[in-house]
Amino acid sequence: MPATALAIVLPAYNEEAVLPISLPRLEKLLDQMITDRLITQASRLIFVDDGSKDRTWAMIEAAQAAHPRVTGVKLSRNFGHQRALLAGLATAAPYFDAIISIDVDLQDDINAIPKMVRAFQAGSDVVYGVRNDRHTDTAFKRGTASLFYGLMNKLGVRMIPNSADFRLLSQRALQTLLQFPEENLFLRAMVPLVGFPSSTVAYARLPRPAGTSKYPLRKMLAFATDGITSFSSEPIHLVMDAGFLFVFIGLAAFIYSLVQHGRGRVVPGWTSLFCSLWIIGGALMIAISVLGEYIGKIYTEVKRRPRYIIETETVTATLPVRQEE
Ligand code: UDP
Ligand code: MG
Repeated sequence: MPATALAIVLPAYNEEAVLPISLPRLEKLLDQMITDRLITQASRLIFVDDGSKDRTWAMIEAAQAAHPRVTGVKLSRNFGHQRALLAGLATAAPYFDAIISIDVDLQDDINAIPKMVRAFQAGSDVVYGVRNDRHTDTAFKRGTASLFYGLMNKLGVRMIPNSADFRLLSQRALQTLLQFPEENLFLRAMVPLVGFPSSTVAYARLPRPAGTSKYPLRKMLAFATDGITSFSSEPIHLVMDAGFLFVFIGLAAFIYSLVQHGRGRVVPGWTSLFCSLWIIGGALMIAISVLGEYIGKIYTEVKRRPRYIIETETVTATLPVRQEE
């Protein structure tokens, strides 16, 4: 089996506390895999600085001067995890056989990386890292995560349960993914749409070694809503079903009051008026907001703005032009 030219793409946002811990571990892993002839000398670590305000980029530059296989991509501002990741992937795509994405905090176990490469060499175009153990996440994060994966499943969005953005893509799988033009990125649900042979590698999720999570509850919720509305119009159907139910209830109440009227009894009106006004008003507002959500999505999509902007990039300069093709 010939060795693989591997890129490991790591989005980093204000990670000066984590980099000194992650860097040596990643360099060691890369060197070891080269010694084992699993990957080629042309393999690289690609750090994507997502507009950090701290010393992250300075640290990446220093690491690059010290280690020949460290490279970086610097975005012009903060674009968010998904877009930073895409920027790194798109930069790497032309030059590598396989591209692994992983968070720079190494909460995902890097010992799964050689296993992913072997699975790739055995014929998988996509190798999903799957967390088999999340005991280091809080019960709350575990609960909300399982709720989210269950909901997405119900809505008909195919996702690999407990897989996040730690995965290997072959060059052709990545090139295919890059043809997806959407502005609202939700990579973990987009990758299964690419197809090609795939497999999974199990690993245990570790605690963050330093620094703080950039995904507080508010961002997590926004991310989840984004995922649902980018991939399913099921919420619109739910609103429609609810609308039919409400009309049915209204009609039933109307018939009931007519019958009562025929018997000479007038149904006192205040309660029913008050309740229906508020319930229908609320339901309409929900319905409008759901529509608004999708219209907002369409609006951002049709603008076709660049999904990321690269300020500087040191990946291509350090690579020899590939001989094989
Ligand atoms: N990240 C990024 N841009 C952002 C936020 C986060 O590139 O705007 C990176 C961050 O540096 C990390 C990864 O995305 O490598 C995941 O973020 P984090 O570890 O904070 O999320 P969690 O693991 O807590 O979900
Ligand atoms: Mg993390």
